[in-house]
Amino acid sequence: MLSRKITDGCEFVVFDMEWNQPFPGKTYSFDISTLTGEIIEIGAVRYSYDNGALTKHSVFSEDIAPVIYTQLHYHVKKVTHKKNSDLAKGRPFSEVYADFRKFCGVDCILVGWGNSDPAMLKMNLRKFGMNSNLDMFFLDLQPIFSTFSGQRGKQRSVESAVDYYQIEKNEVFHSATADALYTGEIFEEIFRHNKPTEVLAAVSSSSVDPDVQHEFGFVGREALDVESAMADADGFISVCPVCKAKLSDRIPPFRLRKSRYGLKYCDEHGEMFCRTRVKKNKAGRLFSTTVMRFATQTDYYLVASKREEYDKFGISGAPAAIKSEENRNEE
Ligand SMILES: [Zn+2]
Repeated sequence: MLSRKITDGCEFVVFDMEWNQPFPGKTYSFDISTLTGEIIEIGAVRYSYDNGALTKHSVFSEDIAPVIYTQLHYHVKKVTHKKNSDLAKGRPFSEVYADFRKFCGVDCILVGWGNSDPAMLKMNLRKFGMNSNLDMFFLDLQPIFSTFSGQRGKQRSVESAVDYYQIEKNEVFHSATADALYTGEIFEEIFRHNKPTEVLAAVSSSSVDPDVQHEFGFVGREALDVESAMADADGFISVCPVCKAKLSDRIPPFRLRKSRYGLKYCDEHGEMFCRTRVKKNKAGRLFSTTVMRFATQTDYYLVASKREEYDKFGISGAPAAIKSEENRNEE
């Protein structure tokens, strides 16, 4: 669908955020699903692209004083090495966000590691009554790294990508600024080690508009067996979730172990990735969950490689010894 063309002079802002979480079991005066995390730090690095390479410009690093979740959650404390007393030293979210927007300029592409940061940012903007449109494209660098490092479909941490390119570890991981700096260096390395035209194609086809819903979910009813649990999603994956037009098959749905993959096509919205998984609920009964989204290049590779495995080994897939690591990452 909407992909972002990358030309010389194009600007990228690689960013990362840390957020504090509500305490489990504690009662809050509002529905905590409207704020699953309150942002306490934004770190970012600005780059420009020219002639096959990235040039690093400036760094943004700001702490935010939370006003809702003011006590550090033990998990956040452990991961970020922050203390409760650090939180109060931050500035108000609205001020920091205004500065961050200025730092981004008018037409940059946001780059992150994993796809959760834009949604978290929008959730905070909504909670604090601010305009939640980002008006920028977003690129998740994690699947791009997996593709170019020959680990398609696998989820890797920032640290493992840093190790992969033997980037010097001068900063402690898991502060927003350190992780943004590392992610920026990984982005630079991806350009250095691959054909820029190929990197650009992946970057442009994987950039999404975070203000447009691009992922849709469906939960099936309880079923007696895997086949009928999957079949419950047939209706959902046959029409485009945006325009309701009937979808055609690019790669017809096929079952591999407890998942079913497919690549569908809408004349107006392009390729759609579909994956249905069969799970057990608390009562031990089977049901399926399905995700359908505008397919990125990574999604296309994922379906194609699963299809290859299916063609070679059938529904049960490759023997466990070969596939065990991949399954752990995907299932
Ligand atoms: Zn459509």
